[in-house]
This record gives sequence, structure tokens and C-alpha cells, in this order.
Amino acid sequence: MSKVGVFIEIVDQAPGKSMPGLISAASRGGDVVGLLLDGLAEKYKGSLEEYGLTELINLSAPNRVLSKHPEAAGHALAGAVKTFGLTALLGVSSPTGNDLLARAAISLKSPLALDCIDINFKENYVKKSHFSGKTIATLEIKATPFVCGIRPNSFEAVQNQVTCRVTDHSALSVGDDTITIIGVESSGGQKDLTEASVIITGGRPIGSIENFKLLDDCAKTLGAAVGASRAAVDLDYAPHSMQVGLTGKIVSPKLYIGCGLSGSAQHFAGMKGSQVIVAINTDKEAPIFTKSDYGIIGDLFEVVPALTKALKTGPP
Ligand SMILES: Cc1cc2nc3c(=O)[nH]c(=O)nc-3n(C[C@H](O)[C@H](O)[C@H](O)COP(=O)(O)OP(=O)(O)OC[C@H]3O[C@@H](n4cnc5c(N)ncnc54)[C@H](O)[C@@H]3O)c2cc1C
Repeated sequence: MSKVGVFIEIVDQAPGKSMPGLISAASRGGDVVGLLLDGLAEKYKGSLEEYGLTELINLSAPNRVLSKHPEAAGHALAGAVKTFGLTALLGVSSPTGNDLLARAAISLKSPLALDCIDINFKENYVKKSHFSGKTIATLEIKATPFVCGIRPNSFEAVQNQVTCRVTDHSALSVGDDTITIIGVESSGGQKDLTEASVIITGGRPIGSIENFKLLDDCAKTLGAAVGASRAAVDLDYAPHSMQVGLTGKIVSPKLYIGCGLSGSAQHFAGMKGSQVIVAINTDKEAPIFTKSDYGIIGDLFEVVPALTKALKTGPP
């Protein structure tokens, strides 16, 4: 049976939230083998074998902390693909995932497709959204192994309890380092947008940094991340790390609540993959309503606090 490798990305000291969905996607192609940098496989295997991970490989390299050396990590991932005879290497298309997958693909001289929203191992193709989400491209992959980044939340996690064994593997050749990650600073404790399953976003009418607290309060009751339109970011109401859209983050949550967004093509390019879109807008003719599953015609300064209250106390 074919074996598909999955790069297990650690976020906030645990496997990233998109890992179960990624493992489920990979299991369409055969047995799933997880590749984890710098150990801790024993600690994490319980949460991963629930979704069908049959083997977890602790990747290490002499005298290197792989997670701090992206070039070495790319080589180590590529080496593991060869050593363990993996037919493909998948990861989440996060900033770290895209970086390491691209490096591994170069090292393997393999085809690379990032930000894919579908994958078919039998017919060897992936699907990607192009031109601000207006078209879906189907790309045929003609070589094995290939490397593929999957857009977070593109696949439902399917429970498939198996027993996962842990294997240690030391990469012998990881090349020279020109880059060392000295530290990673989080952007003010905000929840990560790309992996969030619920997002509430504010547009231009939010009016100030302070008013984003309205969305923060609602987000807390929903366990949501808070996003912003480019108009809100350009007016300094929110940092660029919160921007959703063509020139911001690409997100694909289960629920997207847009507050005071007109529904521009550039904003939609970043959140079109959301499963359910709810729009709150004072203008019943706003374009966003034509692209939303649910629309609330109303002032966000009234609707959002009422929503937060209802979520806290339950329906009247
Ligand atoms: C190359 C390029 C890249 C871009 N990239 C991005 C990107 O990544 N992300 C992005 O978001 N945009 C991007 N834009 C900008 C985009 O074209 C729009 O200008 C922007 O998305 C509009 O932001 P908005 O919806 O917040 O504001 P507006 O377009 O001003 O819409 C505000 C909406 O709020 C409604 N409203 C007003 N008051 C209230 C209220 N009190 N309660 C409820 N509703 C209210 C209005 O009816 C209106 O529909 C890009 C543009 C270009 C040219």
C-alpha cells in the first residue's frame, strides 16, 4: 500500500488545529506517516492516531534544532520521503508549511502545489482557487513523489482510530545553514486567522481600534478569531496581521461573520472558502448580501452586542 507523508506542524506546543483534516485528506492516498521535527512524537501520537496516522517519525539531525533551521528541516523532510518510500508529502499551507514544503520539493526535485483545496490521489490531480477565487484550477501531477500544501480547514477531520508506532530518524545530510530562526513573536495574543474555525471581521464602519473590542467580546463567546478588511487596516483600526483578503490572509473557517463589509472581490478572494457566511450591513443593496448564506440588515453597533448577549445568555 502507498504511504503518504504529512508534515506535522506544531502550533502553540500542540499539533496545529488543521492536522486532523490534513491526515484525513492524506489517508485517501494510503497509509499516513507523520513527520515531526525535533521529537515529542510520544506526547502527540495519541491525538493523531485518532484520525488514522499509522506511523509518526521523530525527525532529528546532528547538532541542529530543525525547527530553527528551515533549510535543514526542508532537507530532513525530503530525506525522510526518500528513506520511507513516501509517494507524497503533504502539509498545511501555513507560512511555516509553505516554507518547509517548498524547500523539501526543491531538495526532492519534485512538483510542488501550494494552497490546494482538493486532492485526488487516484487520478493524480489537485485543485486550487485562482483569480481571486473566480476560477478553480485542476492541476495534473505527473511525478512521484510530489509535494502539496493544503489550505487549512479544506478537509473535514474523519475519526479513524488506529495504532500509531513511533520511529526515530536522524537525517544524515541536511546541508549548510544560512538562516537561523532566532525567535517568533506572536502578534499581541490574537487567535490565528488561518486555522480558525470561526471568524468575525470588521470593515471600515468599525471606525476605531477601540471599537474592535465589540468584535473581540463577541469572538470570545464564539471561540472565534477577529479579522479586518483592508479598509479598516489602511485606516489603522487593526494591524495588517488581521487583514483578510487578496493582499491579506486566506481563510476557510466553518463560519465567517462579516460586520460592515461591502463585499469587494478582493475581500472575497480571502474568505470565499468559508462554509457559512453571515453578513451584517445597514445597506440592503450591499453586494455582500448576494454572496452570503445569511444576511442581517442592521447597524453592526446594535447587532453585534445583541448577538454577544444572546450567545452569553441564550435565546430570549
Ligand atoms: C490590489 C488590491 C488588493 C486589495 N486587497 C484587499 C484585501 O486583501 N482585503 C480587503 O478587505 N480589501 C482589499 N482591497 C480593498 C477592497 O477593494 C475594498 O476597498 C475593501 O475591501 C472595502 O472594505 P470594507 O468592505 O471594509 O469597506 P467599504 O467598502 O467602505 O464597505 C463598508 C460597508 O459597511 C456598510 N456599513 C456602513 N455602516 C455600517 C454599520 N454601522 N453597520 C453595518 N454596516 C455598515 C456599508 O453599507 C458598506 O457596505 C484591495 C484592493 C485592491 C485594489
